[in-house]
Amino acid sequence: MAFSVVTILLLFVSVALHELGHGLEALRLGVGVRNITLYPMGGIAWMERIPKNPWHELRITAAGPAVTFVLAGLLWLLDQSLESRTLSVNSPGLLDRFVLSGWGQMVGLLATMNLTLGIFNLIPALPLDGGRIFRAVLAMRLEHVRATTIAARVGQGAAVLLAVSGLLDNSGVQYFGAGIRIFIAFFIWTSAQAELNALKRKKGLEGRTAGEMMIRNAAVLGPHVSLASAQTFMAGSAQNIYPVLDSVGRPVGWVTRTMVETALTQLIGGTAIREVMLAQVEYVGEHTPVQEAIELMLEKQYPALAVVETDGRLRGILMINATPAAGPAGGSGLN
Ligand SMILES: [Zn+2]
Repeated sequence: MAFSVVTILLLFVSVALHELGHGLEALRLGVGVRNITLYPMGGIAWMERIPKNPWHELRITAAGPAVTFVLAGLLWLLDQSLESRTLSVNSPGLLDRFVLSGWGQMVGLLATMNLTLGIFNLIPALPLDGGRIFRAVLAMRLEHVRATTIAARVGQGAAVLLAVSGLLDNSGVQYFGAGIRIFIAFFIWTSAQAELNALKRKKGLEGRTAGEMMIRNAAVLGPHVSLASAQTFMAGSAQNIYPVLDSVGRPVGWVTRTMVETALTQLIGGTAIREVMLAQVEYVGEHTPVQEAIELMLEKQYPALAVVETDGRLRGILMINATPAAGPAGGSGLN
C-alpha cells in the first residue's frame, strides 16, 4: 500500500518535472502567456498565444518529453547499479536495506513509467506534445489555422483507433488496459475538439475591428481624482480596470481596483491617482483589426487598450484577462 502511494507521488513529481521542462524553455524564449480571456462586450473568447515562430513552439514542446526521457534514463541507470550491487545481508547498509526491503523495485518501475509517459506524449495527436510538434512542423510550411486543423483531426483519428483497440481488447486489466485506453481516447478527442473550437473563436474575430469589439460605455476616471474617491467610486462599479482621461478625454493611463487598494496601504487617501496609475498612452483606432489590438496587448502585457477617435479622445476600451501560464503545452498531467 505504502509502496503504491509513494510510487504514484513520485510519478506526479516526474510529470511536474516534465511540465517544468516546458515552462523553463518557454521562459527562455520569452513566452509567458498561453490562455487569455477577452471580454468583448461582456463575452468571453478563449485565445491561444502560440509562439509566432513554429521553431520556438517546437523547442518548448520538445523540452517536456526531453526531461522525461532523461529522467527515465537516469532511473534506469540507477536501477541497473542497484541490481548489480553485491548485497551484504549480514551487516546491510542503508542502500542494501532499501534493495532487500523490495522498495528498490520502485526505481525500475518509475524508469518504465517515465519511458511510457515520454513515448505516449510523442503520439502525434494534437493535445499531446507529439501533436504540438507535428503542428509546429506543419506550420513551417502551412498557415497556422490549417496546420492546427490537420493536427487536431489526426488527433481525433488516433483517439478513435485507441478507443476501438480498447473496446476490442478482452484480455482484461493489464498494464495499458482497455479501460485506460478508452479513457485516454476520450481525453484526446475532447482536447482536440477544444483546440478546434478555440481556433473557430479566433477565426470569428477575423475581419472584426477594435471598434466592433470594444466596450463603449466604460467607467473612466480623471487624473486628479484622489485614491479615496476612486475607491468609493469603484465600490459602486463592476469594472476592474479604468482608463484615466485628461481634461479633453484623451487616455493618459490606467488604474485597476487592486492598484488603488495597494496604493492606499502606503499612501494617504488624498493622493491623486495620476501618481499611481500605469501611464500607458498606446492606443488603437476604431478600424484597427481586433486581432492586431490583441497581439499588441499580449506583446506589451497590457491588461486593456484604449480605442480612440481621430482626435485622440476615448471611444471605448478593449480588455484582456491573462491567466497564469500553465506551461506552453501544459495543463493536464498527461501532457
Ligand atoms: Zn508535455
